[in-house]
Amino acid sequence: MACPVCGGSIVGRIGLNQYYCWDCFVEFTIVNGQVQAYKVEADGTLISITNEKDGNSEVANIKDEVIPIG
Ligand SMILES: [Zn+2]
Repeated sequence: MACPVCGGSIVGRIGLNQYYCWDCFVEFTIVNGQVQAYKVEADGTLISITNEKDGNSEVANIKDEVIPIG
């Protein structure tokens, strides 16, 4: 599958519905057909970059749910 963020094809599967794009270093999950994308910070923090319907740039810090990559 292609990355929903940059359209790149270098996407690795890291979990049941979890993928990681090596082009833009974004982790994304697919839940009920909806894509949730997260930017992975250097310290492992995941920052939601999914566009919100209301236009707010809500940032979700789910550091506790970081999944080791590689
Ligand atoms: Zn990408």
